[in-house]
Amino acid sequence: MAEQVLLYDTTLRDGMQGEGMSLSVEEKVRVAHALDSLGVHLIEAGFPSSNPKEEALFALLANESFDSADVAAFGMTRRRGVAADQDEALRLLADCFAPVCTLVGKTWALHLEKVTKVDPDENLAMIEESLAFLRSQGKRVIYDAEHFFDGYRHDPEYALRCLRAAVDGGAENVTLCDTNGSSLPNQVADATEHVVSALGAGVAVGIHTHDDAGCGVANSIVAIERGARLVQGTMNGYGERCGNANLVTILPALQLKLGYECVSEDQLARLTETSHLVDEICNVSPDGNQPYVGKNAFAHKGGMHVAGIVRDARTFEHMDPAAVGNDRELLISELSGKGTVQARAKQRGVQLDEAAAARVVDRVKELEHRGFQFEAADGSFDLLIKKETGDYEPLFRLESWRAIVEKREDGRVVTEATIKIWVEGERYIRTAEGNGPVNALDRALRSAIGETYPHLRDIELVNFKVRILDETKGTGAITRVLLDASDGTDTWGSIGVSENIIEASWDALVDSLDAGMLPRRAEHSRRPAATVERARRP
Ligand SMILES: [Zn+2]
Repeated sequence: MAEQVLLYDTTLRDGMQGEGMSLSVEEKVRVAHALDSLGVHLIEAGFPSSNPKEEALFALLANESFDSADVAAFGMTRRRGVAADQDEALRLLADCFAPVCTLVGKTWALHLEKVTKVDPDENLAMIEESLAFLRSQGKRVIYDAEHFFDGYRHDPEYALRCLRAAVDGGAENVTLCDTNGSSLPNQVADATEHVVSALGAGVAVGIHTHDDAGCGVANSIVAIERGARLVQGTMNGYGERCGNANLVTILPALQLKLGYECVSEDQLARLTETSHLVDEICNVSPDGNQPYVGKNAFAHKGGMHVAGIVRDARTFEHMDPAAVGNDRELLISELSGKGTVQARAKQRGVQLDEAAAARVVDRVKELEHRGFQFEAADGSFDLLIKKETGDYEPLFRLESWRAIVEKREDGRVVTEATIKIWVEGERYIRTAEGNGPVNALDRALRSAIGETYPHLRDIELVNFKVRILDETKGTGAITRVLLDASDGTDTWGSIGVSENIIEASWDALVDSLDAGMLPRRAEHSRRPAATVERARRP
């Protein structure tokens, strides 16, 4: 029987300290549900305080039901010289609905001496009495030992006395925190092992690390290997400075590589989706290189790799991407041959015979020679396959477009675009303004075809990259535009190449919308099924 490790997510509290992080109360509830369906055991929601936003969050959460998760409220040990049951913040915790309270307290003698100027014995009393009070109010309590590893290096005996005070106060778990992220794996491993054996079986040990030394995940993993049984972290590693330990990386390592039991197989298969969903709610673009869940995590380039993968995936992959809900990505480049193209087409649900695959390869080579690159433009590549198999039907027929950029005396720049297109036999003329020609064209185009294809309204352009090829030609050089678009579930790339930057952008834009309408994307439109049916081309 595999040993269990509890997942403790602090995205909504520590994660919100990250640069640019701010979520509404409703968004926090959505994140909590995403964490719950992933199988997270404890969700730290924040401080229950009289601040209206926090109050509203706890009021909402109290009425939500979760399958696997318990909500934890966060607070500090009592103030010095005040009885625990008279401490306002502790009383708020006691009155809050959350069944679990996590209290953070001092462990580092240097902090007591220099920062808080609290007597070391008073600090021990603060820890024990605060926890005991919450226990007496029926709460399960976790003690977060702030700066534990620094404290342990400075004065191991006192750091351990702090943990014992928490155990005496009734903690079910004492979590060792590397608050400033200073520690390295061997330090965390040794200290954790010592704590686990010193405290004995009566209390579980947890780990909370930060990534300041690039060791957030490694430190969490070694602590588990040395006996910790609860791991704190955030989704995608959000958090102040360099971030918290990334639970999205820790979870599959514990479960798939070390054999611990954290969540069910089905829940683990939701990891990629959950990671991207939380990114979307937090308005962060997903990191393509993120371990396990990134778009590039299982991307293969080059004939030999691809041939190996097709024969036996273990040759070039450290695990099966499906276990974490990710997909294998076969990159298209001049290095690859027919095999890659066929494998990629099959993945997309298209059967390509040898002759068609050879045509696609030739076409890719020809286009790459002109400056195209399909590795980041999977959407354009999918369309190219469709064109070669003859079942491509454009979204619209272009009559003309024009874009006007006008710089005025007062310094303002005004952009306007007009397009004339035909959609299903009808002529549309649309004019739109934008903050640049591409934006104006995008708006005009969507307004013209959005009625016929409502799924297009779900698609957002999330990234726009321009690269000048052959820079020696100056303004006569060729421009390559890469666009990333997303419908909230899936992200794809498209490409345009031209001597004219607006023309290149237009081509990429049309491909990105066109690729967004491919059946497998239109299927997961957020709109009601009936609308999607109409939106899909015959
Ligand atoms: Zn922290």
